[in-house]
Amino acid sequence: MTHDECAFHAHDSQEMVWLCEGEQLLRKKGDGRAYMVSGFLCACHGVVSLKFLAPGKNADGYWTSDDMVLHVSCFVERQDFEQV
Ligand SMILES: [Zn+2]
Repeated sequence: MTHDECAFHAHDSQEMVWLCEGEQLLRKKGDGRAYMVSGFLCACHGVVSLKFLAPGKNADGYWTSDDMVLHVSCFVERQDFEQV
């Protein structure tokens, strides 16, 4: 089983776009709200669990070791995993 995390912003987008002649692209200012995804992937079960967090003082807070323990305990109770 493997675990990984990814953080991205609401306004993440492509650097280049195709526009019609005379068309202007209005880009958002700033990166926008950050989002974090934590996921566990198993070779035989596939995607086992995903957790989403809007990190920040005025949002969901910050990812801590307690969040990781809760994340693991949620899917271990739900799935048919055995400790080997
Ligand atoms: Zn598995």
